[in-house]
Amino acid sequence: MTLQNQYHAALKKHFGFNSFKADQETIIYSIMNNEDVVSVLPTGSGKSLCYQLPAVLKKGTTIVLSPLISLMQDQVMQLSKQGISAAFINSSNDMMDNEYIMQHMHEYKLVYISPERLTTPGFIDRLKQSNLSGFVIDEAHCISQWGHAFRPEYRSLSLIKEQFPTTPISAFTATATPDVEKDISTQLNMKNPVHIKASFNRTNLTLKVYEKDNYRSQLETCLKAHKGASGIIYASTRKKVDRLFDDLKSKGLNVARYHAGLSDQDRQRTLENFIYEKTDIVVATVAFGMGINKPNVRFVFHIDMPQNIEQYYQEIGRAGRDGLASECTMLYSLQDVVMQKKFADDVLEGSIRNQMKRKSDQMLALCNSTECRRKEILKYFGEDFKQTPCNHCDTCLEPAENMDGTIIAQKILSCVYKLQQRFGIGYVSDVLKGAKIKLILNRNHDKLSTYGLLSDFSKSELRHFIFSLINQGYLVVSDGDYPLLKLTQKSRDILFNNKEIFFKKRIVKAKNESSKKTDKKQTSFVSDDNYKLYMELKTLRLALANKQNVPPYVIFHDKTLMEMAKNHPKTDSEFLELNGVGPQKLAKYGKDFLDKISETT
Ligand code: ADP
Ligand code: MG
Repeated sequence: MTLQNQYHAALKKHFGFNSFKADQETIIYSIMNNEDVVSVLPTGSGKSLCYQLPAVLKKGTTIVLSPLISLMQDQVMQLSKQGISAAFINSSNDMMDNEYIMQHMHEYKLVYISPERLTTPGFIDRLKQSNLSGFVIDEAHCISQWGHAFRPEYRSLSLIKEQFPTTPISAFTATATPDVEKDISTQLNMKNPVHIKASFNRTNLTLKVYEKDNYRSQLETCLKAHKGASGIIYASTRKKVDRLFDDLKSKGLNVARYHAGLSDQDRQRTLENFIYEKTDIVVATVAFGMGINKPNVRFVFHIDMPQNIEQYYQEIGRAGRDGLASECTMLYSLQDVVMQKKFADDVLEGSIRNQMKRKSDQMLALCNSTECRRKEILKYFGEDFKQTPCNHCDTCLEPAENMDGTIIAQKILSCVYKLQQRFGIGYVSDVLKGAKIKLILNRNHDKLSTYGLLSDFSKSELRHFIFSLINQGYLVVSDGDYPLLKLTQKSRDILFNNKEIFFKKRIVKAKNESSKKTDKKQTSFVSDDNYKLYMELKTLRLALANKQNVPPYVIFHDKTLMEMAKNHPKTDSEFLELNGVGPQKLAKYGKDFLDKISETT
């Protein structure tokens, strides 16, 4: 058998898949060849399989360093269901269990450990007594302090090469700017590493970025479009999470919450209920996410702007790991940036503080851009995306048109001037709008000549114009707790020299094309009858999952169920042909699903 055939056979036998995803094979070749490898692949591209398959084929045990206990548990559970012997050593086990695993290392193809375990006294010496086939560093960006998720305990991983000079290391990450990627191989002391970097384009994600207007109604649009589907809503503070959670719960939604202020138990329950499909929606701070391998998250909604593009991309990366269409919406406001900068000010180390601020500005620039979102994001990660319009982002779906903004700009700037540059965006637009707000009336600002001067526009349109003026340098926002609008040198051109300026105005073309897609629409190959069958198969899967106390996706992915609903397999061998079914799963679940299919069709 050629190597290629051998790898394909192993893929079906141990993982049930019919073909490799892009780049998986290349990486597997290198690892099988005992080379050091750095793989940078976006979320959902199947990185785990890239090291799990070689671990199964190689002699000895592969040690996987993983940052989170929940990730280790999830992987070990899935591997066990596939008949691959795997274990983890961490603080969630008692000492006896950990000791047992150490003593029986040779029985496992994969052993997951946390980075800090490596430095516990005596651990390395005991590892040396085992026959190791390789080391794997998952979430490897944590090793670099240039990354956004630096974890000091990852630094100790540099001793792997010192202690095990002939054992190959492979590192995996979904987030790496070129400097982080280089830092990973340097920190790990790799020898002539093979670098494999895939495109970061996640074609199945629709990206939407909007100025924050009324986040509750903006969110509602998204929730309506994704009724009953799994989704994550991110907010920047615990308080916001709590408030939104209460709000959505009182509306009867099946929702849970997650943030650092809750007990371990509560957080664990939220995570489990989400994974086990007992909860549809989780409202969370950024603390939620790393440990989620749930493949069918259909939407991610950011109430607040993430702190940097890496973080944003990682968070939206949790949507659509199964490759099916999913939607990511982010709201941003200047207030978000002000908050982030205040937060950064508390950081002691100057270089990190400046970096945080810079990244926050880059994030804002992305939000303010009217270019294709995909193009801009990929540019940030060093990729040149040429297939614009991508047709799956807000700027491509609702392209901006130039409108003459000269008069509007004059009115806005004179209003800022009349208000003595002492107010922020909200207040200035209220005055221009002619709002009858107490504060305005009390201050007699309704007597200003600019009061109500732009009442034809909505508040969000006014905000958008002001943002554009900031972008073009005709206004700046002051630092400090409350961002005030200030005039600049350039403002004079508009105020006194009649300079022409243009605003980009969005024309809404296709109204949320993708957000209308439900499970049913996405799977256009499923007819009404087949859709009914699909829903029945889902119910069966959930029942089996509950009985065995595993998440539904550990049994089969949605995609595999869809194939069943479409192809109606009748025999074991037809069942085995499905993508996602291997011999183990055929033996365990084949009968249940075949029976259900034959009784329904
Ligand atoms: P990553 O770590 O890159 O985010 P995962 O390893 O979690 O990705 O895999 C993402 C999903 O893709 C998982 O649900 C996994 O089962 C699935 N997957 C991996 N390889 C294949 C393949 N060759 N064919 C189909 N699905 C795959
Ligand atoms: Mg992964």
